[in-house]
Amino acid sequence: MDLDLVFLGTSGSVPTARRGLAGTLVRRGGERMLLDCGEGTQRQLLRSTVGLVELPEVFLTHYHADHYLGLPGMLKTFALRGREVPLTVYGPPGLKELFGGLRRIFGKLTYPVELVELRDGDSLDRGDYRILAVKVAHGVPANAYAFVELPRPGRFDVETARALGVPEGPLFGRLQAGEAVELPDGGKVGSEQVLGPARPGRKVVLAGDTAPSASVLEVAQAADVLVHEATFAEEERTRADETLHSTAAGAAALAKAAEVRLLALTHLSNRYFGPEIAREAREIFPETVVPRDFDIIDVRFQERGGPRLVKAGARPAREEAGPDGEHGAAGGGGGPHGGGGDPDDPGVGGDPVGASPGRRAASGGTR
Ligand SMILES: [Zn+2]
Ligand SMILES: [Zn+2]
Repeated sequence: MDLDLVFLGTSGSVPTARRGLAGTLVRRGGERMLLDCGEGTQRQLLRSTVGLVELPEVFLTHYHADHYLGLPGMLKTFALRGREVPLTVYGPPGLKELFGGLRRIFGKLTYPVELVELRDGDSLDRGDYRILAVKVAHGVPANAYAFVELPRPGRFDVETARALGVPEGPLFGRLQAGEAVELPDGGKVGSEQVLGPARPGRKVVLAGDTAPSASVLEVAQAADVLVHEATFAEEERTRADETLHSTAAGAAALAKAAEVRLLALTHLSNRYFGPEIAREAREIFPETVVPRDFDIIDVRFQERGGPRLVKAGARPAREEAGPDGEHGAAGGGGGPHGGGGDPDDPGVGGDPVGASPGRRAASGGTR
């Protein structure tokens, strides 16, 4: 089951030329869930390899304008296309009140919109995984969302099953499903005889806007990926405290304490480009990345290598390489993707995120 995160907007409060406002798409198998919908998100989707698909679900972390202003426009676009598929919007308490105002903007829609307010501790059961809403520390009702997969059954040991006399066919399936079976010769085989230990599912936590918070620390324990804001660097610690945001160091300390596998920092203030945020965080927690818009985090199972950042993974090829593409004009020759240059090297051009330490981050590893 594929699971990944597409970063559509990684700037905090105001957009920059390189970074759009909050928007992250969670893709799991055929499911698509949009978390936050800052201004410009529908266009970011259009520009990405994802496209403006008829999203069935949008989760809002909180109701600061940089996280929802894109929603009325996107809802309107869907209506102009004659969408009929229902859409559900989830958010912390206050969602219905917010939509009282937004309805005046988008008017009548061609499809039903359901509003679901999620309080601290509420969870949505999705069969083999669940989505948990957790209240965070941002001064207004604000949720983190945790996507938590159930443990997977252990590996089925075909050799042992054969040796025990189990004929191939339906009995194999029942054993794999955890049932005990009776053999044609009257013997019995239990699933524990042929299944290895259960394997952990994956956990991905998107914390939204928040000061470092005990609730995020708890829900993010041993998460595969924690997406956390780093609006500021430590030099603006006072401002971070006052506004209930986090510094890169604060987020990194939390990730370290929670023992996550990969920390992804987002929601950068427009005075930072990325490398300084990455540097500060990596001194505390080396497994930190600072995704740019259109980067993807592929959340692979541990046995397949664990989570990794795929740079420009959702950027269409023509934007990647074109001479008029947004990276091309920034200097340093044919753009970061043209001549084998390092997209993270501040000397090459483009938006230099994740440059430190050295060139290691560009190797496509799990930094
Ligand atoms: Zn924000
Ligand atoms: Zn906010």
